[in-house]
Amino acid sequence: MSEPPAASPAPQLRDLLSSLPSYQPGRPAGQRPVGAGRGSYKLSSNENPFPPLPGVLAATSRALDELNRYPDMASSRLVAALAERLQVPADHLALGTGSVAVLAQVLAVACDPGDEVVFAWRSFEAYPILTRLAGARALAVPLAAGGRHDLSAMAAAVSARTRVVLVCTPNNPTGPAVHAEELAAFLDRVPTRVVVVLDEAYTEFVRDPGAADALAVYRNHPNVVVLRTFSKAYGLAGLRIGYAVADAPVAEALRKAALPFGVSITAQAAAVASLGEQTALDARVEALVDERTRVVSAVRAQGHDVPDAQGNFWWLSLGTRTAEFAAACESAGVSVRPFGQEGVRVTIGEHEANERVVQVAASFAPVR
Ligand SMILES: *Cc1c(COP(=O)(O)O)cnc(C)c1O
Repeated sequence: MSEPPAASPAPQLRDLLSSLPSYQPGRPAGQRPVGAGRGSYKLSSNENPFPPLPGVLAATSRALDELNRYPDMASSRLVAALAERLQVPADHLALGTGSVAVLAQVLAVACDPGDEVVFAWRSFEAYPILTRLAGARALAVPLAAGGRHDLSAMAAAVSARTRVVLVCTPNNPTGPAVHAEELAAFLDRVPTRVVVVLDEAYTEFVRDPGAADALAVYRNHPNVVVLRTFSKAYGLAGLRIGYAVADAPVAEALRKAALPFGVSITAQAAAVASLGEQTALDARVEALVDERTRVVSAVRAQGHDVPDAQGNFWWLSLGTRTAEFAAACESAGVSVRPFGQEGVRVTIGEHEANERVVQVAASFAPVR
């Protein structure tokens, strides 16, 4: 290859990249917090502390026998299993490499440059990044008291340019789930040409009796897309698999926008095997929910104001003391997820890890 001329311009990338925040992952597995002497824990990425469900590793290893083949692009076995489980038609399902990827597919099929995407803020940090990468404008609507979605303000933010509204329930990172009546009132106000995404990454952990049932909502609303994932309750975050449930035309568009052969043979096999382990799944989820109840009560009893926690995590507003709290947890051998000068999100993980964070919280004055 010949030397490029000295003045050759750098490859031209989109201007928006310079202002695009990078997704901040929790501490990578294997990197230990500084206070790791007594064993270290990662409570920064809402991962499941349990290993894969019984039989899942074996099924996944068997799938490796076909490693020289492309995966089944239609993921037929998994789609059939999901359709049966959720009682939805198979053509209402679209898979992706994690529900984050499925969300990118939603934005890709719904947004033209300059269109608007409305979401609550603070919410899942992938929302503004994916929105802007899709060429759309992000309209962030501040959360209401208690870390809840302000659905009435979100409906008011919908304009002629709005193509998608993202509703995160329960909300990552604050915790509360959207309620059935408020969602119904919201959907009555939003034009049916607007796609409404109900991101239910944590649905298995929800115990709020008033929480909306997204699958029931989708059945009456052809503009609603339900996003689910195997990353959280099912503990398959490392394999990257999630899906959407939506009316046939939307689901078909999502399948068109999927990366060809993105969902691996191992992910498909693991997901199918996991769906067959409902009893074991329920037991694990119940254990995490019990632990969540215990931890949140303990931290509230210290005087802290913890919002309703419906996922496998809880939120603590700490304002300017956010970094200090995260550092204190780090010294105790636990990484948590700080967000600027707002607060920390703490995953419900191993009992010992949860306990250490409860102890750190005891030494911090409540922020109101
Ligand atoms: C974790 C999470 C997801 C799912 O991510 P995957 O790509 O499926 O691993 C989606 N939405 C929210 C709000 C999440 O917290």
